Amino acid sequence: MDKFKIDSHKLMYHVSRVKSWQDGELIYPIYMEISPIGACNHRCVFCGLDFMGYKPRKISHEVMGKILPEMAGLGLKSIMYAGEGEPFLHQDIGGIIRLTKQQGIDVAVTSNGALMNPDLAEEILPFCSWIKFSVNAGTPDTYARIHGTRARDFDKVIKNLSHAAFYRKKHDVRCTLGIQILLLTEVEDEIETLVALAREIGMDYLVVKPYSQHPQSITRKYQDISYKKYYDLGKTLEKYNTDRFSVIVRLNTMQQWDAAGKGYDRCLGLPFWSYIDAGGNVWGCSMYLNDDRFLYGNINEDTFQNIWEGDRRKKSLELAENSLSVDTCRVNCRMDNINRYLWELKNPNDHVNFI
Ligand code: SF4
Repeated sequence: MDKFKIDSHKLMYHVSRVKSWQDGELIYPIYMEISPIGACNHRCVFCGLDFMGYKPRKISHEVMGKILPEMAGLGLKSIMYAGEGEPFLHQDIGGIIRLTKQQGIDVAVTSNGALMNPDLAEEILPFCSWIKFSVNAGTPDTYARIHGTRARDFDKVIKNLSHAAFYRKKHDVRCTLGIQILLLTEVEDEIETLVALAREIGMDYLVVKPYSQHPQSITRKYQDISYKKYYDLGKTLEKYNTDRFSVIVRLNTMQQWDAAGKGYDRCLGLPFWSYIDAGGNVWGCSMYLNDDRFLYGNINEDTFQNIWEGDRRKKSLELAENSLSVDTCRVNCRMDNINRYLWELKNPNDHVNFI
């Protein structure tokens, strides 16, 4: 029951932008990921962005106030605040979220939830389309080990999420609330406990996601995981589905992890999204952070339009579309399903007219 299309993609809802791309026009991104702050209050054992060093740098409200209206005017539709740090550590995150929505840009947040106290939840929920909480265990002790924090943070997170769900219902706020758990061997026996808890406290869904090794990550512990033994997990958990709650086991993503080959040779997805780190650097892809070939510019120094239309981005796109082998990329990267879709559009078979 994946009504949120978490295990696929949503590019088919943006036909005109895709058509412009097919016609070779310059297009602006539909979706951006922005890391408002580099610091993090947890040290998860699986963290893919550990190599960024959890630096306490952040993007100022002033700079956000400048680029948000500009990006909205250029056609940006959505921003997810997440990235190399915990977004709720940014002291002005409430103001940034409100400002984003006021510009007509849909807002989402991915967080560990430990800092989303009732005041913050009530401030931001009306402006968010969804908030996804990364909770990677079903008990306090395992949570403490996996998240590199204190066991009592587990109860704090559950309490924060319960309040958010309660407030949302009471005030009829439309913000989807979900939990994501990574399918790691240490937590496989606790998934069902967390599913039951997520449903009980009023979440809309719990998604079970396979791990994906970030090539630059210092952590190598999970790089050889095989997911074959979990292919039936969705069936085991489907008894928890109700009208209001869904369990989503990302079977497609697991099978893609286990399979050899991606189904496309080049990355075509970069024109549709990008990533801004906590230092204001605009990157073509979050897998190539710190690789200057994918650095487009910096929002502290230039307008977004100049950055997006600049030579650095042109060169980067040429590299991605003509010579970068996707075999060196992250398996199941953010653009994986989009790349499959775009690749098929660019390389149709002989029977496509038989709709
Ligand atoms: S295929 Fe994925 S990881 Fe590789 S450049 Fe494209 S978006 Fe980045």
